[in-house]
Amino acid sequence: MTAVSLEAPCPRHPENAAEELCIRCGSFACSACIVDRQGDRYCVDCARRLPPLGGSWYSIIAGILSFLSLGCAPLGLVAIVLAGIDLTMISAGRKWGRQGVSLDLLAIGLSLVGILLGALILYRAMNGQIGEV
Ligand SMILES: [Zn+2]
Ligand SMILES: [Zn+2]
Repeated sequence: MTAVSLEAPCPRHPENAAEELCIRCGSFACSACIVDRQGDRYCVDCARRLPPLGGSWYSIIAGILSFLSLGCAPLGLVAIVLAGIDLTMISAGRKWGRQGVSLDLLAIGLSLVGILLGALILYRAMNGQIGEV
């Protein structure tokens, strides 16, 4: 057997020796229990309690909506910047957690407002043109 650096059994698998420490709670975990999250090693319990990975889906939705609203109102530009910041943070491996999600939701909200404003302006412009003809 190879030497094990941590002379303690895994709390979940007493037959396995612990190989790593959870960086969040510091509890022992064997290779079957350790969960890798963007290079950070967590125990199963902590991995389950962590927020979903940076809300990356929200950033993608925010980005798409931002592009849609870009032609409508300058708010779209703000939304793109927000979504961009969040995506950069995720790719850089920063753990934003809920903060990142709220940033994305803000970007989505701004995009929706931008689309609504743009649609309203377009609608009014079209009505005005029709009225003049
Ligand atoms: Zn833990
Ligand atoms: Zn284990």
